[in-house]
Amino acid sequence: MTRVTRREFLATSGTGLGLLATGCAPALKGDFAPKTGRRVVVIGGGWGGATAAKYVRLADPSVEVVLLEPGRRFVSCPFSNLVLSGVRTIDSLTFGYGGLRKHGVRVLHETATAIEPDARRVRVGEGYLQYDRLIVSPGVEFQTEQVEGLAEAGDQVLHAWKAGPQTVMLAERLRAMPEGGVFVLTVPPVAYRCPPGPYERVCQVAWYLKNAKPRAKLIVLDANQNVVSKTALFRAAWQAYPNLEYRASNKVVKVDPGVRQVTTEFGDTVKYDVVNLIPPQRAGTIAVQADLVSADKRWCEVNHVTYESVKHPNVHVIGDSTIGLPVPKSGNIANAMGKISALAVVRLLNGKEPQALAPGNTCYSWVNDKEAIAVVNAYKIDGGKVVQIEQKLTPGQSAQWGQHALGWAASIWNDMLG
Ligand SMILES: Cc1cc2nc3c(=O)[nH]c(=O)nc-3n(C[C@H](O)[C@H](O)[C@H](O)COP(=O)(O)OP(=O)(O)OC[C@H]3O[C@@H](n4cnc5c(N)ncnc54)[C@H](O)[C@@H]3O)c2cc1C
Repeated sequence: MTRVTRREFLATSGTGLGLLATGCAPALKGDFAPKTGRRVVVIGGGWGGATAAKYVRLADPSVEVVLLEPGRRFVSCPFSNLVLSGVRTIDSLTFGYGGLRKHGVRVLHETATAIEPDARRVRVGEGYLQYDRLIVSPGVEFQTEQVEGLAEAGDQVLHAWKAGPQTVMLAERLRAMPEGGVFVLTVPPVAYRCPPGPYERVCQVAWYLKNAKPRAKLIVLDANQNVVSKTALFRAAWQAYPNLEYRASNKVVKVDPGVRQVTTEFGDTVKYDVVNLIPPQRAGTIAVQADLVSADKRWCEVNHVTYESVKHPNVHVIGDSTIGLPVPKSGNIANAMGKISALAVVRLLNGKEPQALAPGNTCYSWVNDKEAIAVVNAYKIDGGKVVQIEQKLTPGQSAQWGQHALGWAASIWNDMLG
């Protein structure tokens, strides 16, 4: 049985002042011990973690759920490319965690600094949180070291691949770019967060430039051999953008903000006025430090039914940090993994066999201010593994798919956080 001791409260609260400032202090006093003694800790309040935290509570309200998430507000990456074109504001993609608290989730705006699987505890500040089951959904981290000059460049070179301040800064730089200027967007090699995301961004930047700075140019340097998702649909959409130059097999290995230039692995240099460099990625740092990653030190292998780590029992990994399932690194998939892992965790805590549930994925991409394209993937569990059974693409782009995208977003944001 896991109980939060008074010592643990105090230790977890660190300086105390920090947690008082977050408004979480009352949660650390008095009623913090779970009634049943069973506790699930969730690391990361993004698409996977927020969903998992809510659904553990929905599946069994007697289980205490503690969600660790340093961010006070959730900002959605889906639709954030529309902030660059000015079609959406970042505020319209930003939500609070109040909905989760209403479901009885203890939301602590803290960073998990270590996982100790053998002791079944997570380090937070100077203290620890014990868990019966842990769900880890820390998203991705950037492999900055793979691009020379990137670490030193700081905010001079933006990724805007975690929606938030960088998204707004990149939008401002796009607005301030001189007419006739060059915007360079780089795409990392697979596997990375949101396979169609960079190409949707290409559409949004090209659409903006076409309308606001018709003599300006967008150069896309893609490390991959071709557009990696919705290929024919994106290529058809790009016919509307004569200001776009797409170069496949152009992996960027160096950036020099001093002379505003990137260099590809073949030594070609490209000058820019504004750069958006999306770096190569790996699982969130906490997953790497906790030895949840495979031999490649990048991504986490999991059981396809329970999402339990193949390396550490009682630790489940979901969302973009995972690898090995035939699914994209998408918010829709992270949301599905959140629900499935939550149900599996509750059944395991109650001594029951987990159900074999497969995720599903619907992914919309905006190709201008009104029109979208989409892909739907269906999966099943076969022999204990997730396998794809169908993939369907929209026949083309349309404003009707754009309307469907709006419906999808409203529904899934509410499913996660409402
Ligand atoms: C531009 C763009 C467009 C996209 N468009 C779409 C789309 O249209 N549809 C779609 O389905 N997907 C889309 N995605 C992908 C989607 O955003 C991701 O797949 C999704 O966010 C993955 O969820 P996650 O839970 O794995 O990670 P995240 O949502 O990134 O959540 C991870 C959370 O963990 C927290 N965290 C990390 N480390 C710690 C720690 N040590 N302690 C506590 N908390 C920690 C972080 O603060 C973060 O909040 C898009 C992504 C981008 C970048």
